[in-house]
This record gives sequence, structure tokens and C-alpha cells, in this order.
Amino acid sequence: MALLEEILEHNKQFVKEREQPLSARPAKKIALFTCMDTRLVEFLEPAMGLRRGDAQIIKNAGTAVIDPSGGVVRSLVVAVYGMGCEEIYVVGHLDCGMGKINEEKMEADMLARGVTQAQIGGLKPSLKEWLGTFRDGHENVRRVVKGLRVNPLIPDDVPIHGLMFDPVSGRLELLTGGYEG
Ligand SMILES: [Zn+2]
Repeated sequence: MALLEEILEHNKQFVKEREQPLSARPAKKIALFTCMDTRLVEFLEPAMGLRRGDAQIIKNAGTAVIDPSGGVVRSLVVAVYGMGCEEIYVVGHLDCGMGKINEEKMEADMLARGVTQAQIGGLKPSLKEWLGTFRDGHENVRRVVKGLRVNPLIPDDVPIHGLMFDPVSGRLELLTGGYEG
């Protein structure tokens, strides 16, 4: 069976066993911003005591904020003003794949698959600048938290916490707490 058919088949069973619908507003009033790493799925949430309905979760490659008015910040704006989130958790993780990407190889792979040099060159920040910021995952979390704290779109009364997660042990390390002001 092809993967798509398997997923649709699984979904039929899933829908049959469905619970009562939850509110879309997060019960714990928190927004979690983290990485798309596969090992975090169904692992970071229980490690933080979060269940379905508790939090708004935003994910991308590397827990990266590229643009102060881009997609991540806009999602956080919706979480705060639209969905009642009162705290933001920025959670990076150890052994993040973004720290290991070889910029030259990725560029070569993109070119080989039909992306043009001009299209790659049009990226802002550039492919190299963007991928180069993840060498130190701890530093990335600190930078993201700092940027959000001074972002005029995020209100000052929203605590923003920065943490690192170990995708093997499940341990959370606090890098910077948001209650300190
Ligand atoms: Zn990652």
C-alpha cells in the first residue's frame, strides 16, 4: 500500500475513535516555538506536560526567526492577540540538523534539481547567512528570544522564555527565563 493510502486508511479509524472537540484557544495560554525535528514529535509536548488543546505550537527548521515581521512573528502575534497566549516558549534542541547542513552541498543540490543561481541569490538573508546562524543552537535560542523581546509587535507584558531540549533524554535546560523582565 502506498504511504498516502496508508495515511488515509489510518485516518478513517482515527476519526471513528475521536474524542469530543476541544476549544481552539490554548488551555495553558502558551505559545511554543520550536524546531520541526522528527524526534520532537510526541516527545517535546509530554516532556513539557503539554497535551492536545494546551498550547499553540509553531515549528520550523532550526527554531529560526529570519524576519522580524515574517511568518513566525505573525503566528506569535495571532497567538497573543487572537488566541489569548500569555507566555512564549522558544525551545531549541541539541543535535539540531540545521547546525550540520553543509551550505555548499545544499546549494549544489538545489542547482542540480533545477533551482537557478539567481533564485538562490535572491534569498534574503542569503543561503549562507541563514544556514550559518545555526552552528551554535544555544546561541540561536538566545538570539531569537532577544529579538522577540525587542520586537514592537510582541507586547512587553508577555514573558518570553528560552530553553534547550535534549531529544534523547527529554531533559529541558533553561537558558533564559522570561519572568525576570
Ligand atoms: Zn532542529
